[in-house]
Amino acid sequence: MQIDASRYHRVVVLTGAGISAASGLPTYRGLGGIWEEHDVEEYGHVRALHERPQRTWQLFGSMRTPVAQAKPNAAHLALAQFEARLGSHQSFLLITQNIDGLHQRAGSRRVIELHGNIGQTRCANPDCSLQPFPDAAPHADRVPLCPTCGGVLRPDIVLFGEPLPAFAEWQAKRALRECDLFIAIGTSGLVWPAANFVRSARYAGARTIYANLEPMSPPNPAFQEVVLGKAEELVPRLLGESI
Ligand SMILES: [Zn+2]
Repeated sequence: MQIDASRYHRVVVLTGAGISAASGLPTYRGLGGIWEEHDVEEYGHVRALHERPQRTWQLFGSMRTPVAQAKPNAAHLALAQFEARLGSHQSFLLITQNIDGLHQRAGSRRVIELHGNIGQTRCANPDCSLQPFPDAAPHADRVPLCPTCGGVLRPDIVLFGEPLPAFAEWQAKRALRECDLFIAIGTSGLVWPAANFVRSARYAGARTIYANLEPMSPPNPAFQEVVLGKAEELVPRLLGESI
């Protein structure tokens, strides 16, 4: 199956961890034996940031080097090329649950990061004027402090127990209300956000496609089409240039 891009005006794509699997990245829950799952749930929670911010940094700071060394794979690149081929009368929005920044590094331009970006640091004080900034340091030994307010700095990601960034959520919802093609890639189709997003897309009358390694069980009927396989093989086939 191949998408004929010329038939659509407003395309929304949602990506999850499955799209970065071929880039060799650990997920929150699979940090490669360094952390047990209960540690991730404990130290990845916003409570830990308030009580023991050094633990937050030890957990997420350790992801920075592997993420920086990872490379976008064929799925990331196919999405960026698809966006670049669209005409000026067409719109495209890529919503990702991933915090690895690989879509931007592949060349995608309109990207919403629902869960933030591990390669950025920001101030933990909500009233501080410091903007999020790129930061490669793992900060494993000492909690970095804010140059503006002196408060604790934190990774610019959504921790367990925290709400989504309001602007990102608003942009995603607005795009879904108007879309005519919605594709979910490498994410569970049965839980938030894909399950909610696909419902909005169906209300808007969009064509809906689920692309993942594993089938949904039970199937979510809001997805009209299901394509199964590895993202790095599926996505170039689905969104590649027709010959
Ligand atoms: Zn600050």
